[in-house]
Amino acid sequence: MKLITERKIDELGRIVLPSEIRSKLGITSKSTIGIFEDNGNIVLKKTEPSCKLCGSTNQVNENFSLCAECIAKVKQS
Ligand SMILES: [Zn+2]
Repeated sequence: MKLITERKIDELGRIVLPSEIRSKLGITSKSTIGIFEDNGNIVLKKTEPSCKLCGSTNQVNENFSLCAECIAKVKQS
């Protein structure tokens, strides 16, 4: 594991991901990041957004966190 940089956590528990890392990994303001705990370490991984209702990662609308199929079902009801 390579140390890229060190950041201070702000009073709300936030950190900023360095822009060079974001662009290297294709992370944008709409990306979903998974936060994992592994033997006392925090691991961040870019994850695919998944649908809140069915868990699908196919055609997920990131504003609603729902897949196209579930959005269609919700609109029908
Ligand atoms: Zn769905």
